[in-house]
Amino acid sequence: MDSGYPEKLTMQMDGTPQAESPQFWRKPIDEGKAPKLVGVVLMIPERCKGCGWCVEFCPRKVLVISERFNIKGYHYPRVAKPEECVDCRLCERLCPEFAIYLKRSPAQGGS
Ligand code: SF4
Ligand code: SF4
Repeated sequence: MDSGYPEKLTMQMDGTPQAESPQFWRKPIDEGKAPKLVGVVLMIPERCKGCGWCVEFCPRKVLVISERFNIKGYHYPRVAKPEECVDCRLCERLCPEFAIYLKRSPAQGGS
């Protein structure tokens, strides 16, 4: 199957096919030593306009649209998988209403 990647990225040094996905074939040399970042997602529901950008673009699918309505009548997001958040802060940067933000987890020395 053609992966769309150049051949050298799907081969090991000796020319045998790479077993893992070519997207993840390189791993950090300090993997397992670096602390794992965990974000704590906080919401200001009354600011949300229900656009869903934070839900759509979260790379870890941490957020889902909740069943609840805010004061403006929109469904705002809720955190469905808090343990999956890697503190990338993409949701914070994308939100046009500044309704979602991150707090450092206690494990990172946050308060
Ligand atoms: S910080 Fe990143 S991983 Fe965490 S909820 Fe926001 S977009 Fe998802
Ligand atoms: S990006 Fe902001 S306004 Fe849009 S759904 Fe998420 S929290 Fe609400």
